[in-house]
Amino acid sequence: MQKQTLKETITSVPLLDLNAQYKPIEDEIIQALKEVVVSKKFIMGPEIEALEKNIADYCQCKYAVGVSSGTDALIISLMAMGIGYGDEVITTPFTFFATAGSIVRVGATPVFVDIDPDTFNINPDLIEEKITKKTKAIIPVHLFGQMADMDRVNDIAERHNLFVIEDAAQAIGSNYLSRDGNTRSAGSVGDTGCFSFFPSKNLGCCGDGGIVTTNSSDIAEKLKLLRNHGAKQRYYHDFSGGNFRLDSMQAAVLLVKLRFLEGHHKGRQTNADYYNEKLGSSVVIPYVKDGFRMIYNQYTIRLKNRDKLQKQLIDNNVGNAVYYPVPLHLQKCFEEHGYKKGSFPEAEKVSEEVISIPVYAELTRDQQDYVIDSILAGLL
Ligand SMILES: *Cc1c(COP(=O)(O)O)cnc(C)c1O
Repeated sequence: MQKQTLKETITSVPLLDLNAQYKPIEDEIIQALKEVVVSKKFIMGPEIEALEKNIADYCQCKYAVGVSSGTDALIISLMAMGIGYGDEVITTPFTFFATAGSIVRVGATPVFVDIDPDTFNINPDLIEEKITKKTKAIIPVHLFGQMADMDRVNDIAERHNLFVIEDAAQAIGSNYLSRDGNTRSAGSVGDTGCFSFFPSKNLGCCGDGGIVTTNSSDIAEKLKLLRNHGAKQRYYHDFSGGNFRLDSMQAAVLLVKLRFLEGHHKGRQTNADYYNEKLGSSVVIPYVKDGFRMIYNQYTIRLKNRDKLQKQLIDNNVGNAVYYPVPLHLQKCFEEHGYKKGSFPEAEKVSEEVISIPVYAELTRDQQDYVIDSILAGLL
């Protein structure tokens, strides 16, 4: 298909359109920011506690502790559990660097386990063979907005007395029907849940931010100490913490944006449904397990000649991205762990075959048709 046969009015579609996302709420956000500026409560202002309460409620959790980023949410979770030098933490190689990077950052060793080729999440069948005396925790990642198989991950963790840290950076608002009959939200099923407010996540702020959820009052207390240099009373330090605080300004932005989050999720779901219908017979579309609610932080298709399609999308100005082109076990920084090509065949295959396309809530039907036409043309 030639370019001129595509819809004439549209000549490009971005992967994410923050202008469109902010347009209806920009005035309200600026007003919220102005209130923080006027109050001067820049550090740990009342917006932090308000946000923590609202996020805890939204995630069906008892506690939430605002932190400086999703990466720091992971690091401070590991710190709160006393995980460090000599310890091993099991996770997936098919995720953003920060999942494993945070393990290294606290001095522990990431131990990778291959993924389920349908959901791209950690394969619970392969976890137990990697558990050693040094294993302290499992970090499943809810990739692209669909939760990992948490019933099974939690069974394994319980059997071996391990902590579970959910990397829910891409999954705020996702949930699944647990085998006990309850619907369980991301962030509410591990010992902690780690969320990111990076601008491209479903709930993004105007910069960096994150939050840790937990149902344990002990862990919540410890997280609050650790994010503030380990001091309950100023200048009296019980632990060696750090500065992991969330800014009042970001919390103020998030309090506004949280009110629109469900609508935002629904918009993504509608767009995903339309892609499923139009692309389902040509490429592998996202596999959502029965009883799971995916929030489509990414809409990721899978096909053999991915690189050729990517060229076509770039030529047609269709925003796209490969999450992730190199699985973590093959990254230079993890060389010393001795993994090689072939160590995790599913993760390796997937990283050569996936590509994510625009699915943001404000996408119009015409824009979607342009994306679809570009993809189908790219497959010829
Ligand atoms: C975004 C992301 C993070 C890190 O969040 P930041 O807020 O950017 O530090 C961690 N894990 C996953 C899976 C992510 O997608």
